[in-house]
Amino acid sequence: QKVQLAAAREERILVLVRLRPLSDQEIVANEVADWECINDSTILYRNTLREGSTFPSAYTFDRVFRGDCSTKQVYEEGAKEIALSVVNGINSSIFAYGQTSSGKTYTMNGITEYTVADIFDYINRHEERAFVLKFSAIEIYNEAIRDLLTSDNTQLRLRDDPERGTIVEKVTEEPLKDWNHLKELLAICEAQRRIGETSLNERSSRSHQIIRLTIESSAREFLGKENSTSLASSVNFIDLAGSERASQALSTGARLKEGCHINRSLLTLSTVVRKLSKGRQGHINYRDSKLTRLLQPCLGGNARTAIICTLSPARSHVEQTRNTLLFACCAK
Ligand code: ADP
Ligand code: MG
Repeated sequence: QKVQLAAAREERILVLVRLRPLSDQEIVANEVADWECINDSTILYRNTLREGSTFPSAYTFDRVFRGDCSTKQVYEEGAKEIALSVVNGINSSIFAYGQTSSGKTYTMNGITEYTVADIFDYINRHEERAFVLKFSAIEIYNEAIRDLLTSDNTQLRLRDDPERGTIVEKVTEEPLKDWNHLKELLAICEAQRRIGETSLNERSSRSHQIIRLTIESSAREFLGKENSTSLASSVNFIDLAGSERASQALSTGARLKEGCHINRSLLTLSTVVRKLSKGRQGHINYRDSKLTRLLQPCLGGNARTAIICTLSPARSHVEQTRNTLLFACCAK
């Protein structure tokens, strides 16, 4: 069964679902958890008040993670294989999709840390090659790109590079020294994201954060020689804007245009993901948003993609949870 899963993963987008536990505040507020993972692939909606309604109640994905699963488990059993394909020269992207407060940042930060630890481990075990691991972080906010590693507020531009594809001009690329260095850089990103907003959630509900790790390597014996060939590939960790932005945009009719502008990247991503899930051929509208344009080399072709859909179990969040599951169903 494992072999089958791996084969399926290679062609399609891997769709993972992570249910978070009720928070302490939700428990104090007498919230009820209406969602339950009944096995490794099925999540069930269980609300006795709605029994007999036509509300679909069971959803099946590649893997679902219960509220008591650790991020380590989500990484090991879900994201690791795709994240680490970067050491074999394969580009990949791991997205977190879900409403604000469902656990996107919690999940992505952990997965980024585990990936970096495993990449350093790999580098140490392959002394025949020389590696450079670079870290960059940007935010896309209202279709404007900003560097999260500098306090400079200038907007960065995308440029088509004949060799490297679409790149962010002048973005800071920091060579990663070790795991502690990563923690420092993540803290800088978080501080940058807080600037200009009353709370982090306020801003992160409207912007996408993309952390990119790029590995460059070349065989030591050819280092500095004419015929030295170097390999470069990237893995992207994308902490998406709150998905409530996309559903608001789609549902408010007259305000559709405004909504689209608020989050064109999220809407285009949905379209791109839906098309990719039907096979990676044919025309795909990557150029319709900054996010998809930037990620094109890490989405199409032989790139690997995983989407982690994060869910709140709370009864009061049922509409958003259902929207997230519908997006997840489109992606698989
Ligand atoms: P988002 O980025 O989707 O807005 P966060 O990642 O900030 O959501 O999570 C909201 C809150 O819930 C945070 O306090 C976070 O620590 C907590 N949280 C999220 N997921 C989990 C989980 N699986 N287990 C325990 N706490 C979680
Ligand atoms: Mg967040």
